[in-house]
Order: sequence, then C-alpha cells, then structure tokens
Amino acid sequence: MSLQPKDHIAPPCSCPECYQAGVTKLEQRRDPYSGKLLHGYPLRRWYEAREQFRKAARKAVGAPGRHGSGFERLVNRDPGQEG
Ligand SMILES: [Zn+2]
Repeated sequence: MSLQPKDHIAPPCSCPECYQAGVTKLEQRRDPYSGKLLHGYPLRRWYEAREQFRKAARKAVGAPGRHGSGFERLVNRDPGQEG
C-alpha cells in the first residue's frame, strides 16, 4: 500500500490523552513507522521535533531568499501553514 501525503495528517483530536498534552488544536500526524496516528505527548514531541528541525535548517541556510530550492520553501514556511 502507498500512503499519500494527506493521509499522514488527520483533523485535531480531543481525546483525554491529547487534551492532557495540550495538542487538541493541532492536526494529528501519522507515525511513519507504525502507521498509527499520534496522540498526546508523542504528537507533541512530533511538533517539537519539527520546530527544532526548522530552526536548525534556518540557521544552516542563513538569510531567507538565498536558496530557490524546495528546501528554502520548507524552512521559510510560516508556522501553521501545512502542505
Ligand atoms: Zn487523541
């Protein structure tokens, strides 16, 4: 089976686990290894990891606009803008 990118995202979940981790406003993400949707703290860690990656990537490429590549689009995307 092959998953499309949109299949890795699901609407926000408000189960007790997600509520406790404060991620009820965030879209659910799918664990790339298990294929299961992430809830609660694992989901929160996913977003934290992405944020850290973006910061590191931003630092690595320097000022915005230096790269016309897909990488530049990735790191310059506004928070909350998905796709
Ligand atoms: Zn949940």
